[in-house]
Amino acid sequence: MALLQIAEPGMSTAPHQHRLAVGIDLGTTNSLVATVRSGIPEVLSDEDGRQLLPSVVRYLANGNANIGHKAQAHQTTDPKNTVVSVKRFMGRGLKDIAHAENLPYDFVDGDREGGHGMVQIRTVAGIKSPVETSAQILATLRQRAEDSLGDELVGAVITVPAYFDDAQRQATKDAAQLAGINVLRLLSEPTAAAIAYGLDHAKEGVYAVYDLGGGTFDISILKLSKGVFEVLSTGGDSALGGDDFDHRLFCWIMEQAKLAPLSHQDTATLMVKARQAKEQLSTNDETTIEAILKSGELVQVTITAHTFAEITRHLVGKTMNAIRKAMRDADVSVEDVDGVVMVGGATRMPHVRRAVSEFFHTIPHANIDPDKVVALGAAIQANLLAGNRAEGDDWLLLDVTPLSLGIETMGGLVEKIIPRNSTIPCARAQEFTTFKDGQTALAVHVVQGERELVSDCRSLARFELRGIPPMAAGAARIRVTYQVDADGLLSVAARETRSGVEASITVKPSYGLGDDEVARMLQDSYSSAQGDMQMRALREEQVEAERILLATQSALESDADLLGVAEQAALAGLVQGVRDAVQGSNDTSIEPGVRQDALHAAVQALAKGTEEFAARRMDKSVRKALAGKSLDEV
Ligand code: ADP
Ligand code: MG
Repeated sequence: MALLQIAEPGMSTAPHQHRLAVGIDLGTTNSLVATVRSGIPEVLSDEDGRQLLPSVVRYLANGNANIGHKAQAHQTTDPKNTVVSVKRFMGRGLKDIAHAENLPYDFVDGDREGGHGMVQIRTVAGIKSPVETSAQILATLRQRAEDSLGDELVGAVITVPAYFDDAQRQATKDAAQLAGINVLRLLSEPTAAAIAYGLDHAKEGVYAVYDLGGGTFDISILKLSKGVFEVLSTGGDSALGGDDFDHRLFCWIMEQAKLAPLSHQDTATLMVKARQAKEQLSTNDETTIEAILKSGELVQVTITAHTFAEITRHLVGKTMNAIRKAMRDADVSVEDVDGVVMVGGATRMPHVRRAVSEFFHTIPHANIDPDKVVALGAAIQANLLAGNRAEGDDWLLLDVTPLSLGIETMGGLVEKIIPRNSTIPCARAQEFTTFKDGQTALAVHVVQGERELVSDCRSLARFELRGIPPMAAGAARIRVTYQVDADGLLSVAARETRSGVEASITVKPSYGLGDDEVARMLQDSYSSAQGDMQMRALREEQVEAERILLATQSALESDADLLGVAEQAALAGLVQGVRDAVQGSNDTSIEPGVRQDALHAAVQALAKGTEEFAARRMDKSVRKALAGKSLDEV
């Protein structure tokens, strides 16, 4: 299966030699690195035996940084310089970040200060981009791997959420490059989890991956057929995770202990206690929270697992709603699901497992540590990609495009080239032509979204194809190719096939769409489908009207003498009729369908009125071609 033959330039391909490759789970809350040793995947620990590296970087005044546990310890005392959950900022602009005003950071709007649109954070050690911060986490993991494996890495498979768009994936790759890591492949997190459970060798069918991490919830519906995983749909909530359970418990403690609003420091202390209590309740029936406030006041509250489940039930309910939506999107029902995989530390909570189990009428796969399963799956994949595969081990992994990729055509319409949910990698081409006689350049506008009009979609990139030899309108053949690689990055190329002129672009949008935004764009497309179709028909009619007006005008310029005065006047009347109808067609107070009908009638009248003229022009050009030629030459 050719798609897995990813040979990176500079990578030696010597067979039969074990090559060190790792899988990295670059998480919002925690990151991990894993590898396959003697055929068994394992998570690598730091020198203190800890496997989870908190995804936290604290910048220091001397320009250095602390990474992981050491940084996390200062989260509450030095919040401005301690970057947590940087994954949320990857490939995002300031305006993409929800509730940025509630975060402790001094954000720099990347659109203004040369950050290619990505938000940045001003710290004591200077302005830091999310890519740099992520690179520091990755470099720490790389060091850990090289120390414990005693050799240099060939490369790594890094996991990303299935819904990550182009900008977020590119930012992740950039971070890896900065950390000196050769990315063998980006892999979607649910697919990695499914691999860790060996589902790729299981029976063909549909699998659901339920991932409740620290601050995010993701649900993915995967389909396995012939050893190939395909992501049928993704969904979730980018602002729902274990942290919300901590917060709910914190509020409950406040109520129980009848506490007045707390200082920042006391809040932070109590939040840490709440988190510890939550984690204990996953294995104990009861726990006691004890904290001493700055004032010296002792807080002491006992909570049972039952009560904790009750007070956080609505949070679990939210995840169930997201599951229903993702199942609808994938067009599968509970009976179609052959297995469920639990991912993320927060799925250790028994009431979460119970709810998922009840929903799917099955016991979910949960015997691998839910916070390690993604890294383990990535390690298995990395091992294969590095060439350490055993006989019969070759399979493909497929992801899908979250939104359709299209091109702007005349009239501000979108022609979809790669439809939403296409499995990647993929390439599709479509032919276009010129609109005007002698047109030598063509603007290519790449857009993303489900709607029919460009103005309702998101613009990804623009470029021009120049140097098209002058030809009659419609004679040029321009082939536009869209290609999405295994990492989900898009390249677009346009080529005029007669002259061979070409132009291309790799789309690196300045910042990405959030999953909420993807959801909104999909929602919009469903609710506006009918109106969009009418607008599309109208726009097409407008384009046709412009085309026939141009053609008539150029015919009159060269051959008006073929028409009598009365005929010319009649034609002028029809031309005016089309012009008026074009103008009227922009009157938004009238239904698009009615406008289109009126325009269509005028265009048809002009088309009919020019039939005779066209016939005479044809005769004339035939006569001209024959003039002075003897019969046997013809
Ligand atoms: P992410 O994917 O966001 O990096 P993780 O998968 O590491 O996050 O999950 C982190 C979350 O899991 C935190 O909210 C943490 O409190 C929670 N968690 C870890 N262990 C337990 C446990 N035993 N019981 C309940 N929640 C837990
Ligand atoms: Mg995770």
